[in-house]
Amino acid sequence: MARLRAGQLTVMLIVRGEGARITDADGHEYVDFLGEYTAGLYGHSHPVIVEAIREALADGIVLGAPNRYETLLAEAVCARFPAIDLVRFCNSGTEANLLAVSLSRAVTGRSGVLVFAGAYHGGILLFAHGISPLNPPFQWVVGEYNDAAGAARLVREHAHELAAVIVEPLQGAAGVIPGDPAFLRALREATASHGVLLIFDEVMTSRLSTGGMQQVLGIDPDLTTLAKFVGGGLSFGAFGGRADLMSRFDPSRPDALQHGGTFNNDVLTMAAGVAGLTRVLTDAEITRLNGLGDRLRDRLNGFAVERGIEFCATGYGSLVGIHFTRGPVRNEHDVPESAELRGILHLHMLERGFSYGRRGFIALSLPLGEPEIDGFAAAVDEFLATV
Ligand code: PMP
Repeated sequence: MARLRAGQLTVMLIVRGEGARITDADGHEYVDFLGEYTAGLYGHSHPVIVEAIREALADGIVLGAPNRYETLLAEAVCARFPAIDLVRFCNSGTEANLLAVSLSRAVTGRSGVLVFAGAYHGGILLFAHGISPLNPPFQWVVGEYNDAAGAARLVREHAHELAAVIVEPLQGAAGVIPGDPAFLRALREATASHGVLLIFDEVMTSRLSTGGMQQVLGIDPDLTTLAKFVGGGLSFGAFGGRADLMSRFDPSRPDALQHGGTFNNDVLTMAAGVAGLTRVLTDAEITRLNGLGDRLRDRLNGFAVERGIEFCATGYGSLVGIHFTRGPVRNEHDVPESAELRGILHLHMLERGFSYGRRGFIALSLPLGEPEIDGFAAAVDEFLATV
């Protein structure tokens, strides 16, 4: 059932995962280069995380009160991310972004939000090739990613109606496209000088250093959103930032904003998240994984140049995108629309025992090492040789 022809929808029913390997219902094994779109950073069934979940499970999972893990996770998050003074938990990245945008609209009294073409901020916050009809009916202003002057102009022109600018420091779903430091700095400067809030969606990029891309870039956004691996691989979301903004949720205030949610402090997620951040994801491990991503990108780009093929690998550290274009890929318009070669390469790689996102999306996980990286690169090169 797992092997289908190009053009057909490839659906794999995965029944098991261990380390960096997954197995489908027919018993085919794959090395996992998808890493559950970054949520699977720890790999499958990491023993430290599994043990933390088991331990928490033994004491009950829906306790109806604050539990002992949530403060630890909040402390770990605030200690790592330079621009997060206070943090609140929810259940997904979508929810985190919705809450960050809604908080911005509440505190500024303005309703507009500047987003960037190609952005994916969640299932109902989608800006790929237009504004999804499922998005909440906010007043969206759409700019071009990596156009610093254009974005600064949009902030200036719309300042009177903008509550916030929300941006991925590296656009993930659009094609693993890094934001230029100059673009992101221009956003920080323009928003600060016009009283507009800047939200970094670090749902994917939080893995790229101990303190996310904000730490790498030295840029402090007003609000930051997180999800995915930060909950240890279970359903999770979080938003946080400046104390004066986040303290609007302080329930002792007479004008406190409400933020309810049955599973906002889900015991298993909190326990898994704490174990991951405090016992597994060290600076050294992040550096090693980013190095593997650099190695993969360099190999793939080297092969493309050697063979003179319109192909390139994009990204930063452990996030890699592959595209059938010479590049550079600086925004969604630079990603070729034709999906044919992309689909055939994907089938070739499955056949060679490597799984990744069909659109060319790769998120490395901790159990991977150089042999897997080199095996993946060699399998891609084998395909490029036939193009
Ligand atoms: N923001 C970004 C940048 C994402 O990549 C995603 C998910 N891929 C989300 C938000 C939404 O997160 P979730 O799927 O947990 O709702």
